[in-house]
Amino acid sequence: MTTTGTGSGTASAAGAASVPEAAEAPASEASGTPTAAGTAGAVDPEVTGSLSPSRAGDFMTCPLLYRFRVIDRIPEKPSPAAVRGTLVHAVLERLYDLPTGGRTPAAALQLLGPEWERLCAEEPELAGLFEADAAGDAEREGWLAEARRMVESYFSLEDPRRLEPAERELFVETVLESGLRLRGYIDRVDVAPTGEVRIVDYKTGTAPRADFEARALFQMKFYALVMWRLRGEVPRLLQLMYLGNGEVLRYSPDEADLRATQRKVEALWLAIRRATESGEWRPRPSRLCDWCDHKQRCPEFGGTPPPLPTVPVKRDRIVSEPAPGHDDL
Ligand code: SF4
Repeated sequence: MTTTGTGSGTASAAGAASVPEAAEAPASEASGTPTAAGTAGAVDPEVTGSLSPSRAGDFMTCPLLYRFRVIDRIPEKPSPAAVRGTLVHAVLERLYDLPTGGRTPAAALQLLGPEWERLCAEEPELAGLFEADAAGDAEREGWLAEARRMVESYFSLEDPRRLEPAERELFVETVLESGLRLRGYIDRVDVAPTGEVRIVDYKTGTAPRADFEARALFQMKFYALVMWRLRGEVPRLLQLMYLGNGEVLRYSPDEADLRATQRKVEALWLAIRRATESGEWRPRPSRLCDWCDHKQRCPEFGGTPPPLPTVPVKRDRIVSEPAPGHDDL
């Protein structure tokens, strides 16, 4: 199934209701193309903080989760699902290194083994993802079978022999006039002969229910906002490809959408700063707690968070380094 939406020009499509609504945009942002960060002659404002879509999503999901990840920087055990997402992303990226006619399902499946070996070489702890016994072997086989199914699912959604991406795993960043730096990795950018830009993101989960689509699109609008500021053109299409169930979600943003996204991001950052200053990071339990690595230290589950770091985290140090292929869960 494919769902297509068009920019509504309202801020309500941008996501969680818990984030305080931003005030109206300053007059300088209210019309026209935004200042392109990094262009010749432009003076970047002083950077006061950084935010990626993943960490913005963490804060919207649960402020305490954001704290554990960004302020405490508590390491998390890689989950099989997250690692599989990284592997499938790597395969889809490498697929486009092949000559156009060679981008077949068989060729893509052949990339799984070498890419897995490469990831394990880069992060040796991944080798311990499964127990070294019969049960672990069976689990690894099931895990790999699911990765194969996802790669095959990709080919049911588009034909890579008819595509030549302009960019893959593109790192983008821009600094808003407020000093907030937005950054992230875009899975793929396609540019049509007309110059129109399509931003593509692969998801190894399943497509969200209609009432959760806005949340999924927030990440894409975040990227679209950054691209608009960098290139001066609103991307024509945002495309989320759900390999878990073979669905595509498409959305055409407009300028009003992206201004609303900017206001939402600024409001989110304000909420993060307030939590940083007050030290109040509230847990927000949801069904996602079942996958949270920090349950044992979460008050919602009888735990106690560790003391906050004694060295105050400077605002410009509240950063979240995005990692390609880790945005899937
Ligand atoms: S267990 Fe749930 S409420 Fe607690 S930190 Fe994790 S996501 Fe937040």
